[in-house]
Amino acid sequence: MKMEKNDRWFPHCIHLGKEKGYSASGHILPCCWADTPDPGFAPLIKEKLKIANNATITDIFQSEEWQEFIHKLTAEPDKAPATCWKYCGNGKKFRIKEILDT
Ligand code: SF4
Repeated sequence: MKMEKNDRWFPHCIHLGKEKGYSASGHILPCCWADTPDPGFAPLIKEKLKIANNATITDIFQSEEWQEFIHKLTAEPDKAPATCWKYCGNGKKFRIKEILDT
């Protein structure tokens, strides 16, 4: 998958304090838009990161997976999930081109 992006990156969860999301699977998510099958969020929905498997929500936010996710949003946006680019980047102009393996 190849993603074409421009410089309109503005993560609402970082700069506007967009509320976290909560999935039916029992995970906290960085926002409601993150409740998708987008593989970019897969590290955040590991079994060990379920709310039921942690003493506090802070423990989840301090996990390596969450710290790495926040790092992507703040320092390496090219590695952010496609969904993030859709909602907090290029909007409807965001394009994903499938490159088929032959
Ligand atoms: S779509 Fe991504 S960057 Fe935008 S608020 Fe949600 S988690 Fe943050």
